[in-house]
Amino acid sequence: MAQTDVAGELAEFTEILKLKEPLAPFTLFKIGGPAEVMVEPRSVQELAAVVKRCCERRVPLRILGAGCSVLVNDEGVPGAVLRLNRAPFTDITAQGRRIRAGCGASLGALIAAAARHGLTGLEHLVGMPGSVGGAIRLNAGDRAGEIGQFVQSVDLLDSQGRVLTRERDDLRFSYRTSNLDEPVLLTADFELETDSTDAIVKRLRKAWIHRKASHPFSYQAATRMFKNPPGLSAAALIEQAGLVGAKVGGAQVNDRDANYVVVEPGSTARDVLRLLELVRSRVLEHFKVDLEQEISVW
Ligand SMILES: Cc1cc2nc3c(=O)[nH]c(=O)nc-3n(C[C@H](O)[C@H](O)[C@H](O)COP(=O)(O)OP(=O)(O)OC[C@H]3O[C@@H](n4cnc5c(N)ncnc54)[C@H](O)[C@@H]3O)c2cc1C
Repeated sequence: MAQTDVAGELAEFTEILKLKEPLAPFTLFKIGGPAEVMVEPRSVQELAAVVKRCCERRVPLRILGAGCSVLVNDEGVPGAVLRLNRAPFTDITAQGRRIRAGCGASLGALIAAAARHGLTGLEHLVGMPGSVGGAIRLNAGDRAGEIGQFVQSVDLLDSQGRVLTRERDDLRFSYRTSNLDEPVLLTADFELETDSTDAIVKRLRKAWIHRKASHPFSYQAATRMFKNPPGLSAAALIEQAGLVGAKVGGAQVNDRDANYVVVEPGSTARDVLRLLELVRSRVLEHFKVDLEQEISVW
């Protein structure tokens, strides 16, 4: 669909719509082209109307969280890109052992709010960048546990713009994936255990130190390339294939954790894509293991 068509189809939303909006500032890589149209809704009603319209008029629709796992093509993204960066999508409230977070809130804000309310369980996720929505959709986690295990229910929008609630029994979380494939995740309810804020803060400090020691945080733009194949470590395979430090343009395999790509300012999405392809094909050649990409390419 041509750019003018998309803008025309969404003409009634002009107050919340930006044309040809650069996406680079909203992603961790800080590279890639613009969104044909970017939409930043102010209410669930407004968001639902946009989703419904996009579905009716076949306008491609994507939701951008904190952009930590998204690589935007140099040519940009056709259709509409939605950002849930305003209240109510970033609200967090707690009651008893339950905490409810808007999927546009940052994971860090959720963890901090849980600690303030004396709710424990999410500490091991501290320092993991991303939004609540992105973390739930991808079931973010590590050996100490994954976010999905604490989710009790999720409110979401289906492609007709209808609000639905999916309860625990209907949710499936597995390694870096979930069965939440509806277009928009709105809010999530978590059930946690109680503990003293002091004890939680101590665990947060310990988890933070551990994460800082194991990830290349000194780089502005570094993210994980591939999922770990069952029973194997993607980083170890990449390292054993002799790819530590391998570079294409400004994109390089990190020397601290070989499953991270580090992107220098001035790089292109094409550099990253070519590096991903190099790593995948070398690992396939050496170990007959076809690595599955963790980064989504838009
Ligand atoms: C330094 C570093 C360390 C990391 N360590 C870990 C780790 O230990 N474990 C781990 O699991 N991950 C890790 N990650 C990956 C990253 O933190 C997660 O993938 C993060 O949860 C992605 O969230 P996001 O908001 O950035 O999503 P985005 O990158 O913006 O989007 C990812 C996907 O989720 C979708 N999405 C986002 N929000 C919504 C929504 N509200 N509704 C519907 N769909 C949505 C997007 O459309 C896209 O398909 C790390 C990343 C970095 C950079």
